[in-house]
Amino acid sequence: MGWVKERWRTIVDAGEAETPAGRALLQQRYAALQRQIPLLYTVALTNVLGLAAATGGRSATFFKASAVLVLLVLLRLAHWVRARNRVLPPEKILVELQKTWVYALVISVGFCAYALILLDGAGPEDHFYVILFGSLAAVGCAYGISSYGGAARLPLLFLGYPIAARLVFYRDAAHVGMGISVGMVMLLILRLLGMHNRGFRRLVEAQVETEAERRRARRAERAAKAEKERATIVADTDSLTGLANRRAFLRELSVRAGRVRRRGGAFALAVIDLDGFKPINDTFGHAAGDIVLQQVGARLAAATGAGALVARTGGDEFALALPGISDRGAAEEAGLAACAALKPPFAVDGREFRISGCCGLTLLRKGDCEVEEALMRADTALYRAKGNGRAGVAVFTPEMGAMHRRRSLVEQALRDSDTQDSIGLVYQPVLDLATGELRALEALARWDHPQLGRVPPDQFVTVAEQINVIGELSDRLLAKAAREARGWAGSVRLSFNVSAIELCTARSSQRILAVARAEGLPADRLQIELTETALLVDFEAARRNLGELRDAGARIVLDDFGAGHASISYLREMPFDGVKIDGSLVAPIAQSLRAQRLLKGVLDLCASLGMPCVAEQIETEEQAALLRGLGCRDGQGFHLSPPLHAAAAAALAAPKVVPIGRAAAA
Ligand code: C2E
Ligand code: CA
Ligand code: CA
Repeated sequence: MGWVKERWRTIVDAGEAETPAGRALLQQRYAALQRQIPLLYTVALTNVLGLAAATGGRSATFFKASAVLVLLVLLRLAHWVRARNRVLPPEKILVELQKTWVYALVISVGFCAYALILLDGAGPEDHFYVILFGSLAAVGCAYGISSYGGAARLPLLFLGYPIAARLVFYRDAAHVGMGISVGMVMLLILRLLGMHNRGFRRLVEAQVETEAERRRARRAERAAKAEKERATIVADTDSLTGLANRRAFLRELSVRAGRVRRRGGAFALAVIDLDGFKPINDTFGHAAGDIVLQQVGARLAAATGAGALVARTGGDEFALALPGISDRGAAEEAGLAACAALKPPFAVDGREFRISGCCGLTLLRKGDCEVEEALMRADTALYRAKGNGRAGVAVFTPEMGAMHRRRSLVEQALRDSDTQDSIGLVYQPVLDLATGELRALEALARWDHPQLGRVPPDQFVTVAEQINVIGELSDRLLAKAAREARGWAGSVRLSFNVSAIELCTARSSQRILAVARAEGLPADRLQIELTETALLVDFEAARRNLGELRDAGARIVLDDFGAGHASISYLREMPFDGVKIDGSLVAPIAQSLRAQRLLKGVLDLCASLGMPCVAEQIETEEQAALLRGLGCRDGQGFHLSPPLHAAAAAALAAPKVVPIGRAAAA
């Protein structure tokens, strides 16, 4: 019973439209039926007509029966011909298959009834036709809808088998033989159909699985691509400002330069360096600094036109690629506009900060658009722009290029220790303005380079600071100076300039003392001159080093007082032994009463703090006389003495040989 039920289920099963595999199977089945059913009905029709023709005319009943069957087959044939290219959703296909199943049953049963009536009603001569057309129709139709296994079994079960069974019942050897033979063929075909169906189902399932696998692979591929794109965006973006970062900027710059190289046109490259940003960061914290940088980025982006690329390329450095700019005038205008955008104060947590930016620009044009070269030109222009003061703007010129090359040569030369040794020293006296007594000799570096000519010390000292060789260079110079000063009278100090950067490096005081000691110059013969920039760089480190130098007996004087910011608070907070008043305060005193008053104020200030002053760059007797009158103790300048070579300095500073008689009298 169970077996029959199971069989019956496979026969009535039309499929299902719930699972992807089920839906695919329905679609495949339907497609196969669309191709095969018209042929199948043609086969059925041929057989019905063939049978009718072979046996027809013998009875009106037979003829009518065959006409009904023929009509039914024709209707279905027309239906399937129309449905040839129809595309249906799986749910509709299911209904269509169920209908097909019913028609297959009806036609099989109809044909069977017709055949059986013929068998019984016709003479034995017609049996042959019934068997032939009946079994051919059963087999042909079964194969015709083999893609729909359930329905394919119907012609066999309801047409082929009944005919075979009926034949067996004739009980004569010929009929029984034919019945058995037809039955066996039907059985074989049933099995083949079963196999075919299972194969078909497996094939469709495999296709569905493959398709699902392919979809999964495509999804994974899309996800990987999206992830890669996201990673690229992250890698190309400055996380703080959301602008392009240095990496992305350089890449895009190359792309744009390449376009100019191929197609012509021009654009400007601008580099911007902020002034006054570091103090905000140091004083108000990185959070405030970050907000300012974000606002700077937003303002620059807003100030530049469409198609411009704005990037943050370093701490407080920005770079712009400005399309459509082809001459210096337009470039300068663009630079000024960018700097102007930074002018209004930046509001952070109720505070207002003012910073400014210097901008260096260069043009990239056809035949002149090497990126590396352009970056160097823009940097050179920026260097010049900074020299022009706050919010300076400069567009690169070839003269700037020469300056830049010179600087590179200076840099190269300074890295060489032999060159460092070739840098000499001259010594400029510091004299008591009233008595003319020699108080100190200031060592000033002199460098005559075979190609570059004379390189002024303030220039190469800055370069040495930047390339980090200042410590080494300073040690060599101090050693040289100390060797000279060793022979001077005990009352004459060696005054030595120490660079700001150097003074702020750890243990620089110990190194200075060690060098002097090694050359046999006691620390109390040493005077250290430093500018207040050192105190701006790192106040605490400078204070520590100066304290140690002072403890060892060296004097500390503040150089160039009045040249820069001249913060009076430094005079209070740092223990200076003296102040050198900058030449810019001294130069105008002979012409201007106001300048005299200002100088007097400074002298009084120093006097009240107990610090003796040296007036620098005294060039005329008039200035010297005025300074004496204003109560300035010491002076230095071309009028008193130019810087002297070592031998002349040694002669001037030689210990005085005091006649014995006079010494005894004293
Ligand atoms: P500074 O320490 O203010 O040195 C005084 C500068 O004024 C010297 O220039 C000197 O030649 C110049 N000068 C002296 N008298 C007069 C005058 O009457 N009129 C005018 N117009 N100038 C006068 P120099 O030698 O070119 O040095 C420039 C700066 O370079 C120095 O300024 C100092 O800051 C730095 N420097 C020089 N030698 C050294 C050194 O060995 N180490 C370090 N770290 N810096 C040095
Ligand atoms: Ca000095
Ligand atoms: Ca000075």
